[in-house]
Amino acid sequence: MAFESLSDKLQNIFKNLRGKGRLTEADVKTALKEVKLALLEADVSFKVVKQFIKAVQERAIGQDVMNGLNPGQMVIKIVNDELVNLMGSETTEIALRPASEVTVIMMAGLQGAGKTTTTAKLAGKFKSKGRKPLLVACDVYRPAAITQLQINGEKQGVEVFSMGDKQNPVNIAKAAVEHAKSHGFNVVILDTAGRLHVDEAMMEELQNIKEAVHVDQTILVVDAMTGQDAVNVADSFNQKLELDGVILTKLDGDTRGGAALSIKATCGKPILYVGMGEKLSDLEQFYPERMASRILG
Ligand code: GDP
Repeated sequence: MAFESLSDKLQNIFKNLRGKGRLTEADVKTALKEVKLALLEADVSFKVVKQFIKAVQERAIGQDVMNGLNPGQMVIKIVNDELVNLMGSETTEIALRPASEVTVIMMAGLQGAGKTTTTAKLAGKFKSKGRKPLLVACDVYRPAAITQLQINGEKQGVEVFSMGDKQNPVNIAKAAVEHAKSHGFNVVILDTAGRLHVDEAMMEELQNIKEAVHVDQTILVVDAMTGQDAVNVADSFNQKLELDGVILTKLDGDTRGGAALSIKATCGKPILYVGMGEKLSDLEQFYPERMASRILG
């Protein structure tokens, strides 16, 4: 399970703290040093860990906490609060236009991140909210991606717009938006091509799509299993494309969890949903508080 090792370590550290009646400044500092190591081992980026520990320390070392009734518990609460802060405090919804208008969402991500699967999962969410989504196959480089989207769209009962692999993605996106307008769809989700690494050609293609159709939401799909790489990818995409949010996939695996803790703090963009499995229903809204509780056990 995700966060297993981090969770175990934090629980051990906190068991020691709880066990002590009074806490000295040294006790807190020692505990925070251990927390720091646990976070680094969970692949949270160094900068984020440093800021996090500083924030906790500033709040935890002081008369109020140390002389309180249950100082250990107070320190744990501060760690919890700061974990929630790190992940963005509040749940961010994908902003949609009113149902009478067409909202265009562009999905981006590296190959294998789970973009095509997540695109179909997301369509299911919108459908269950009473929207009429249209999935669009803009990945013309991998014919298998088009087929995969069609299969998933069918499973979700959502129409897939495709022009095969001979057209360029900008034209497909434009035609799809026109199709949506004339056929009563109100959420267009563009499944774009991914590559193995962040590269100029991919970014340019995404920028061209963004310019050609009015994209309302640009969402990046990243694989939680890739740890700090996921954070770097989010940072690069955000710089080129100005993301609205991130979806973190494969959190059902045994990822150490660093990406979930670092993305918001590093690139400033919220995690919107998390992928919790391969099934099309395995997409959960991201709640920073629940995630912090899961980590702290
Ligand atoms: P794309 O290349 O980014 O479009 O990636 P795909 O959508 O084809 O997904 C790549 C693989 O990851 C597939 O085998 C998916 O079933 C799997 N996958 C996607 N999301 C998740 C997830 O949240 N959890 C797990 N365990 N697997 C996932």
